[in-house]
Amino acid sequence: MNTEFSLSSLGEFGLIDRIQSRFPQPVAPELGIGDDAALLTPSPGMQLVVSTDLLAEGVHFERSFGPLRLLGRKALAVNLSDLAAMGARPRWFFLSLAIPVGFPLDEIEALLDGVAEQATAHGVLLAGGDTCGSRSGLVISVTIMGEQRPELLLRRSGARTGDEVWVSGTLGDSALGLQLLLKNRPVSGCNETEYVVNRHLDPTPRCGLGQALAKAGLASAMIDISDGLLADLGHICEQSGCGAEIRLAQLPRSPQFQRLVASAPLSLWQLAAAGGEDYELCFTASADRRAAIQELAKTAGIPATVVGKVTDSGRVVAYLPDGSIFQPSSAGYTHF
Ligand code: ADP
Ligand code: MG
Repeated sequence: MNTEFSLSSLGEFGLIDRIQSRFPQPVAPELGIGDDAALLTPSPGMQLVVSTDLLAEGVHFERSFGPLRLLGRKALAVNLSDLAAMGARPRWFFLSLAIPVGFPLDEIEALLDGVAEQATAHGVLLAGGDTCGSRSGLVISVTIMGEQRPELLLRRSGARTGDEVWVSGTLGDSALGLQLLLKNRPVSGCNETEYVVNRHLDPTPRCGLGQALAKAGLASAMIDISDGLLADLGHICEQSGCGAEIRLAQLPRSPQFQRLVASAPLSLWQLAAAGGEDYELCFTASADRRAAIQELAKTAGIPATVVGKVTDSGRVVAYLPDGSIFQPSSAGYTHF
């Protein structure tokens, strides 16, 4: 970490040079940072897959929540998750930063450390971005580009009545972690709290599983869970012209989540079904694919669980363990 310079002495172009020096670049005939635009070449026969997401201080995060390194990891992770949900392989990304005047340079370096870790872990190259000052908080925007054979891409629109609804990993950890952060609970010293807070601050995009499902042609529709299972499954249903029923008792929950909600009066089902920021995959598949999906998930090292099925009702209905219908207090996070 270099604290010799401040952001103002480094200046916009000094910062861009520093960013460029830290990230391996596309090689000729491709072109990354340094010109007016990047030049990138998808592999033959591949469809380009592009997504963008931004994180704004005070909206998506507070700087007091955790180290900037984790925020850097998350900024790329949430974009990787979008490509995972299409079944695409990530290739390049663009990083745009609006930085408050006087922001400590070592904090920017920590942010870049996290971005670089995540980029290396997923083999994506930084191909450009934009840099400006901010009059309010820190804003981080990432645009990601990936590729996949067009016939293998998984959309929200392919679910069919009778398909099973699956989710990867466990649900609710991140929402519970955020709730504990907002209540200013001490994070260190309690393993369960540390686990769920880390699931919020450092989510794991399910890139391998998403691509494996696409390549195997096993799923009919897929989405990543950023706004809560019920809201995101609702998007699959809207675009597929179907409905779904979910058995809440079947939702996969981590042991840490289970222990924390057992000892506190927290709304278990609200967190697991509508909490948001899980960055797990939700997908639908014909029931005769069940064994093949379980095998594939095992190979990918990520648990996958059937939580319900696709119906022709036109809406998502979630059943509590006693058979009554669950009414979420909000279906998921919306900004406006
Ligand atoms: P312009 O004035 O045309 O927007 P810039 O001076 O902003 O160009 O950018 C110069 C080069 O630096 C471009 O290749 C751009 O993609 C890259 N760049 C700018 N900011 C970032 C950043 N935060 N991360 C990566 N590349 C960046
Ligand atoms: Mg610019």
